[in-house]
Amino acid sequence: MLYTNAQQAAPAIAACVADKQHILLITHVNPDGDAVGSLLGLGLYWEQQGHQVTMLAPTPLPQYTHRLRSVERIRVYSESPVYQETLALPASVDLIALVDTGDIRRIARIYDEQRAYLEARPLIVIDHHATNIGEGMVNLVDASLSSTCELIYQLLRAWDARITPEIATALLMGIITDTQSFKTSNTTPSALRAAADLIELGGDRELIMKDVYANIPFETAKLLSLALSELRRDGAIAWTHVTQVMQRSVGANDDAASEVTEYIANLGGLKATALFKERRDGSVKVSLRSAPGVDVAAVAQQFGGGGHRQAAGATLPGPLHEAEERLLAALRAAVAAAS
Ligand code: 5GP
Ligand code: MN
Repeated sequence: MLYTNAQQAAPAIAACVADKQHILLITHVNPDGDAVGSLLGLGLYWEQQGHQVTMLAPTPLPQYTHRLRSVERIRVYSESPVYQETLALPASVDLIALVDTGDIRRIARIYDEQRAYLEARPLIVIDHHATNIGEGMVNLVDASLSSTCELIYQLLRAWDARITPEIATALLMGIITDTQSFKTSNTTPSALRAAADLIELGGDRELIMKDVYANIPFETAKLLSLALSELRRDGAIAWTHVTQVMQRSVGANDDAASEVTEYIANLGGLKATALFKERRDGSVKVSLRSAPGVDVAAVAQQFGGGGHRQAAGATLPGPLHEAEERLLAALRAAVAAAS
């Protein structure tokens, strides 16, 4: 069943969860603020309701989420020796909830290594990606919302839940980061109302703003300067890349490239931007951003990726220059079709 609205989905999700003992909440690889906020917001609420909850991220959480309360409760699959040695997830889990994830393959190694475990349990999906096809038994996908955290806020409201300051801060994190602090086109009146309510409920706006926007590591700034020195432009498209050599030469971490993505997305006079990031295995992650009218989710989908109309991504095979050529050809076509 696919719902596109929290009000309508709330009874079905509540019915699905009611008799479950142990819920496993999972989010996407390279989790962002919305992914982490969704795990905590929903996980802490279900715990409050008496369920046992395991929150799981495929790969480490970004630095800016480390001060969220209860963040230590989130387990990281790629870092847990227990999981790597035994490849075992808790046997007692009787429901899996996938949050902020448009495609179950985006849980990466968990998907590859735990296929039988995942298939043996009912799955619910709660997400805001337009490209989500609804792989769960119950799916709530509202692509009109700023963030999965906004959607979870609406669900909690529909359930008449007690939203603690801890839950409010977690959900506020997702709304703030997915709108780039209320700058992007998904900054709707509904997103602003949800944020206002969450601040009233004790959401710590100051902590989020400080950790997300005033905490950029020095190495990230150095990487930004290298990436900007190779910035290219062709008409209404601008792009650059981050290679492994660049990343190593300044000692930047894996999150650093996202600062480059957000920086170039804010340039004026453009219809679309692309950041190509060479991964350790030689594959190339592309992060696309666009002005309204250019649908980069459709471009990303041509390469097996997805996302939102104005912010999307995909992984292409290397080498870097070939990935750039292929992707830019598709992006030029999308921009030409829009103008
Ligand atoms: P970013 O470029 O910041 O990694 O991602 C932008 C948006 O596109 C996010 O909403 C993210 O979930 C989505 N996205 C990024 N990469 C992929 C991908 O490989 N597959 C899918 N389905 N979505 C992606
Ligand atoms: Mn999101």
